[in-house]
Amino acid sequence: MNERDSEIMAGQLDQMGYQPAASDRDADLIVINTCAVRGSAEEHAFGYIGQLRQLKDERPGMTLAVAGCMAQEAGTIAWLKKHAPQVDLVFGTHNMHQLPEMLDRAAESDEMVVDVWQSAGEVVEHLPSRRKDGVRAFVNIIYGCDKFCTYCIVPFTRGRERSREMEPIIEEVRALADEGYQDITVLGQNVNSYGHDLEPARDLADLLVELEKVDGVRWLRYTTPHPRDFSQKLIDAIADSQKITRHVHLPVQAGSNPILKRMNRKYTKEAYLDLIERVKLKIPDASLTTDIIVGFPGETEADFEETLDVVRRVRYDSAFTFIYSARERTPAARWEGRDPVPNQVKKDRLNRLMALQYQISLEANEQLVGKQELVLVEGVSKKNDRVWACRTHNNKVVLIDRDPAEDLIDRFVPVRITGAKTFYLTGQQAGRPVSPPSPRRRVELPMV
Ligand code: SAH
Ligand code: SF4
Repeated sequence: MNERDSEIMAGQLDQMGYQPAASDRDADLIVINTCAVRGSAEEHAFGYIGQLRQLKDERPGMTLAVAGCMAQEAGTIAWLKKHAPQVDLVFGTHNMHQLPEMLDRAAESDEMVVDVWQSAGEVVEHLPSRRKDGVRAFVNIIYGCDKFCTYCIVPFTRGRERSREMEPIIEEVRALADEGYQDITVLGQNVNSYGHDLEPARDLADLLVELEKVDGVRWLRYTTPHPRDFSQKLIDAIADSQKITRHVHLPVQAGSNPILKRMNRKYTKEAYLDLIERVKLKIPDASLTTDIIVGFPGETEADFEETLDVVRRVRYDSAFTFIYSARERTPAARWEGRDPVPNQVKKDRLNRLMALQYQISLEANEQLVGKQELVLVEGVSKKNDRVWACRTHNNKVVLIDRDPAEDLIDRFVPVRITGAKTFYLTGQQAGRPVSPPSPRRRVELPMV
């Protein structure tokens, strides 16, 4: 979602006559679009902002702006005023559509201009955007989050849920397909809350079924769903679809019922496993992925064992695993003060979880050997320029031999899977590309 926001900011800058700079050193303007979801992302941003001080000293005429989720936190503003007075402009997630006007104000002011809205206004349509080249595009469908999981800062930084109307979303996807974008991901913090606030109410399944009718769209993805609202109607829509990718990402976060309750996830381990069973029943070839947090305040060894148990039962294709990170203003941050899991224990649990998941990922990949898959060629492998790096519809990386005489970038190509590793598959081209070259083909070969 941050990347999508960056595309919209870049689109506004395009309209103002800015052009992309080759590096920080050449830039007249740097906008740092921050993420606040975990402490590590924040430290990264603070470190980078600190480094830019020298650049600003050398070229005082340049403009430095800090945007995004971190700007919504009072602590960040205080830190910037104290440690980074070189920053010219700070703005948050709710007013980035006013970037041109804010830049004008920053140019006229000698002081740091801080313009952070505490809540969002109406959904703003028809913002310009500079999308990445290629055939993949992201489309926002719902902003904000009303779930208030007790560890999570997103409801504070992104505000209440606001859905876009269906018609402008369909129009946007039609326009993207006309431009040659074939792999579309619809975005929301809680993508399956889509439409409950519209008049009349709509849902994600309704929207996906409409988007599927758009000519030129080959793969249709959605991220991120919440297990609580993942309806049978949506499962059926995916099962019946030729375009909605058979990849179901269902963040479980933890396996222990007391922890799930204190996380405010509003499902039990049993309800989650039942949902997974229903998905497997209707979409037997679905690839399943998840997000997991270890070391939530008060998590015992027995609680953690429940998480391992879920991983063993579901057998995810892959998982994003995180150590719990205390976030300002959230209830769990107060509990972390009273009942933290020691750092060493957190790390140990993360390692054990990853070891189990890696084993399962490898076994899941081995099951694919001998099968035929359609892949999207993304670029030349960074490690070996005789190899194309490709992706399957369910997000698995496949490496195939590259004939330097043929340019396959952004093409959909059939491959036969020949080998499996924990994080990728190897394969061989098994036919001609099924799609024409992308109309916005990059000049140089991307390395991925
Ligand atoms: N809306 C999505 C994802 C939100 S953030 C959802 O509900 O699934 C992406 C992931 O970051 C979460 O799924 C969670 O696993 C992780 N995360 C969020 N807050 C965190 C925190 N305070 N500490 C560690 N991980 C966190
Ligand atoms: Fe955060 Fe929970 Fe909302 Fe996801 S559903 S963004 S984890 S509060």
